[in-house]
Amino acid sequence: MKYYIGIDLGGTNISAGLVGEDASLINRLSVPTIRGRNAREIVKDMARLAKEAAALGEMEWEDIEGVGIGVPGTANRDTGMVEYANNLGFFDEPIVPMLEEELPGKPIRFDNDANAAAWGEYLAGSGKGSKSMLAVTLGTGIGGGIILDGSVFRGVNYAAGEFGHFLIERSGTACSCGRKGCFEAYASATALIAQTRKAMKENRDSLLWELCGGDLALVEGKTLFDGVRKQDQTAQQVLCRYIEFLAAGLVDLINIFQPELICIGGGISKAGDLLLKPLQEIIDKEDYARTSRIRTRLAVAELGNDAGLIGAALLQ
Ligand SMILES: [Zn+2]
Repeated sequence: MKYYIGIDLGGTNISAGLVGEDASLINRLSVPTIRGRNAREIVKDMARLAKEAAALGEMEWEDIEGVGIGVPGTANRDTGMVEYANNLGFFDEPIVPMLEEELPGKPIRFDNDANAAAWGEYLAGSGKGSKSMLAVTLGTGIGGGIILDGSVFRGVNYAAGEFGHFLIERSGTACSCGRKGCFEAYASATALIAQTRKAMKENRDSLLWELCGGDLALVEGKTLFDGVRKQDQTAQQVLCRYIEFLAAGLVDLINIFQPELICIGGGISKAGDLLLKPLQEIIDKEDYARTSRIRTRLAVAELGNDAGLIGAALLQ
């Protein structure tokens, strides 16, 4: 079997892992990124971790086929530059050329972390065996990845798959990107938490107050789903409305791509059927191809943080 190293460069941690060509993750090591350090220091850590992961897996460095990196920003695959990474404070950092200096002779591949994670989930997680898949990650914003006919679609500028930023309501809620009414302003985890807090203020008798210890600051996605499980009416109303927003965006994506599968990730996806079942019901009613025999499946992401490492290691 051939072996690769995957590196996930995050705003909080740098992780590296040894990955087999069968998309198995053999080990995983991490160090803190320490924001504010220059790119050279971070690249040296990446190189060191890569070699440690190989050694930990009892591999000679010479026998590693290649190294792949996922970065939280715009990854220009022509130049090997991270053009912009807000989390790291990077502008035009030549990450790949620098890592090539540290790891001479090793092929290095590179992509943004959302694409790397989508690719990992496609190869080894819920997308296994499919030909086309969209990854939709519900977090602070909404992350995306597009796999079409077995490869990552990146667009002319490597920035495709920004599913958070199409409008579901013209002149709607302000979004961090500067537009108003973007999908992520309604359907991200952040939006769900904001919608929960607003409903709690309007419903002082909701059980949600008890579930967060009476402190709005402690409300998280899980609080809402706990409320729903306990039949709290306010929680049920918030979730019902949230699912309508989320479904609206997913139906749009399905109508554009008709993928085999949409893989939903992020903490909220742990709610499983509580989320997926009502979503599927709306999709079944609204999907343009609803009369077709073959239908887009919804699935929960299976690999968590490992997806980014596996995907990075096996980037093409
Ligand atoms: Zn936006």
